[in-house]
Amino acid sequence: MCKKIGLTNLMFADDVLMFSKGDAKSMMLLLRSFSTFSRATGLKISAAKSNAYFCGVSDQLKQEILSVSGFKEGELSFRYSGLPIQTTRLQKKDCECLVEKICSKIHTYGARKFSFAGRLTLVQAVLKSLCSYWASSFVLPKGIIQIVEATSRNFLWDGGTEYRRAPLVVWDMVCRPKKEGGLGLQDVEMWNKALVGRLVDWIYEGRDTVWVNWVECNHLKGRAWSDYEPSTNSSWVWRRIFRVKNELAAGYLTGKWHEQPDGYSPASCYRWLRGVRPKVCWHHMVSNLWNTPMHSFMGWLWAHDTLQTKSKLLQYGVISDADCLLCGQDTETGKHLLFDCVYIRRVIHAVNQIMGGVFPTQDLLDWCMHHNGSKVQKSVSFAMLVCLIYQIWQQRNKCRVEMTVLKPEKLKKMIEQEVKARIRSRDIKFLKYDDVEWLHSMNLL
Ligand SMILES: [Zn+2]
Repeated sequence: MCKKIGLTNLMFADDVLMFSKGDAKSMMLLLRSFSTFSRATGLKISAAKSNAYFCGVSDQLKQEILSVSGFKEGELSFRYSGLPIQTTRLQKKDCECLVEKICSKIHTYGARKFSFAGRLTLVQAVLKSLCSYWASSFVLPKGIIQIVEATSRNFLWDGGTEYRRAPLVVWDMVCRPKKEGGLGLQDVEMWNKALVGRLVDWIYEGRDTVWVNWVECNHLKGRAWSDYEPSTNSSWVWRRIFRVKNELAAGYLTGKWHEQPDGYSPASCYRWLRGVRPKVCWHHMVSNLWNTPMHSFMGWLWAHDTLQTKSKLLQYGVISDADCLLCGQDTETGKHLLFDCVYIRRVIHAVNQIMGGVFPTQDLLDWCMHHNGSKVQKSVSFAMLVCLIYQIWQQRNKCRVEMTVLKPEKLKKMIEQEVKARIRSRDIKFLKYDDVEWLHSMNLL
């Protein structure tokens, strides 16, 4: 097969694979080439770091080659460019180093001290780089995907790699796009299929790469890829790629990826696999560059009604009463804290003085949908709102321990200062005159 496509070697950085026919003459020629290379460059092959892999070679010839070359006999699987190379089914243990690398990244950065927003950024980066590298080469075993997701989930919610506390929002929601109420992380299994889909597409396209040429010689043998069925003795890796091809077949017709100007893209395939879900009306409130990331997170938890309010803790049987800590007049729920609480109403009244009365007094979600004003004005109002949610929760927690609350005026001042600091940290020289005037009129610049 190597002869048909002229494949003699594969090189990546300092990892080199040399291929040869399994007979004494070919091996002698190969070893002679090594010594010619050494004489010409002064570089020597380290026999201690090199291995010989055999297939269909007699034991006697194998021993001869090993003794002449000084190489050790290697065993499949081995790693090339960090990825496992083997013909058998990919097992969980073969991918454990992926999980180890993810864990080591997390530990290296001392990430336990990160805020939720910092941890989210790190998980995004790790999943994008490490996982995508593996996932674009082969279909990952389900077990390893589950471990990668569990590690990411534990780290995101607790800062460690072990499970210690239940997440407040299910992983499926976290992996949705921000417009659909998620945090925009990728679903590893679907992203894996979309990346492997690129290999499927290369075969459709007949791309001139070593791998596609090898597939043509070894598997297709002149047959059309669209009608191809793998033989029963095909390798596990190849059969999984074929399974992805079948799963994406409908997408090729409806998504017409092959007819797109830029051809197939894993991102468009991922969107197709995920399907379209309804947008949430509050996504602008949470996904807003004018927000402090920590405030965005609290806004996101509030929008999902997952803040551990006393009414929830009462349901779990953790506490015996659900009276609001701030006003003591009603049950503490997410809705009560932001709209009905007497104390918070006084805070909102004070904040409204800064914002010229743009804040909602009734239904926040309705306000999010129908808020008028320029894009910047809307964004600053959202930043103020999530800051309010954050500060309410801080006050509520403080009150639980110290049994005291700040005066509404003082809390308003804190909110004003935090939003102001965030606005000043942004590059505002490209803002329109009207927006700058508006910010000045609110005393936010
Ligand atoms: Zn209250």
